[in-house]
Amino acid sequence: MMLLRLVILLVIVAVLMWLLKRLFTSEPEPERLESAQSETMRQCRYCGVHVPESSIVRVDDKTYCCDEHAELDQ
Ligand SMILES: [Zn+2]
Repeated sequence: MMLLRLVILLVIVAVLMWLLKRLFTSEPEPERLESAQSETMRQCRYCGVHVPESSIVRVDDKTYCCDEHAELDQ
């Protein structure tokens, strides 16, 4: 009887841990998605990769994903 109680207790603890984990991991995700969608994406002139405007490298009016590609396109 004692073992059965212990198993039930372990199952309850496991379910609670799972619920807490779900609660904490599911909350920040919609925020991240929103900020990613609201940010303007720019295309690298060299490789064609789309990069968020905040991390873009600008040379005159051209946009690049990194310094290396800005130099390679010159
Ligand atoms: Zn690039």
